[in-house]
Amino acid sequence: MLDSCIFCKIANGAIPSKTIYEDEDFRVILDLGPATKGHALILPKEHSANLYELPDETASKVMVLAKKMATKMTEKLSCDGFNIVQNNGEVAGQTVMHYHLHLIPRYQDDGQKILWKPTEVSQEELEQVKNSII
Ligand code: 5GP
Ligand code: ZN
Repeated sequence: MLDSCIFCKIANGAIPSKTIYEDEDFRVILDLGPATKGHALILPKEHSANLYELPDETASKVMVLAKKMATKMTEKLSCDGFNIVQNNGEVAGQTVMHYHLHLIPRYQDDGQKILWKPTEVSQEELEQVKNSII
């Protein structure tokens, strides 16, 4: 646990939160600035700044938990859809540097947008990008 990290403190119970699930590895809390009703965050109890630092074992457990939470929340909140969002780095919108996964219930006409603006790309550019990654 990092003394300087607010999510370490929340995940480990040193700061109170609206907890909707807890086990030995994770705490799931309601977001204080919710995009929609029920917006929650999965916090690993062990500190990792982001996805790059996340241990494989935690990474493999987190999506199983996300599925479980999304299923339960969809039933309990009667939402119409669901976004799973996870930001890494300031440029990608990360504001708290302790890995967390957003669980965002979506409702018809909720007025939120979690979208990007599509751009155009040629087959040559796609080929180049493909070759730079593989
Ligand atoms: P990020 O932008 O890093 O992906 O997401 C950080 C999220 O944490 C934001 O949605 C913000 O509302 C939420 N948040 C920041 N500080 C606190 C806090 O102290 N408690 C809770 N419950 N949520 C927080
Ligand atoms: Zn932390």
